[in-house]
Amino acid sequence: MDDLDRAQAIEEMQREQALQQVRRPAEEPETDASGNRVCLECGDIIPVLRFSLINAVRCVDCQSALEKHNKGYNSHVG
Ligand SMILES: [Zn+2]
Repeated sequence: MDDLDRAQAIEEMQREQALQQVRRPAEEPETDASGNRVCLECGDIIPVLRFSLINAVRCVDCQSALEKHNKGYNSHVG
């Protein structure tokens, strides 16, 4: 009984860690000649508000596509 609870808690912890790794990209941000931060995938300029809040290195479209892809790994959960 307790073992099951503990296994679930560990699983949740690991899932949380995986999500945090997704949110905190290891990639170096890309900037254009004017100093704008641009998306690593498509080269679109990323709004200052976006990368100052979450240190984004991708535009909204590419980031959500990436997160959708990562979620696919654990699609059996939930
Ligand atoms: Zn993009």
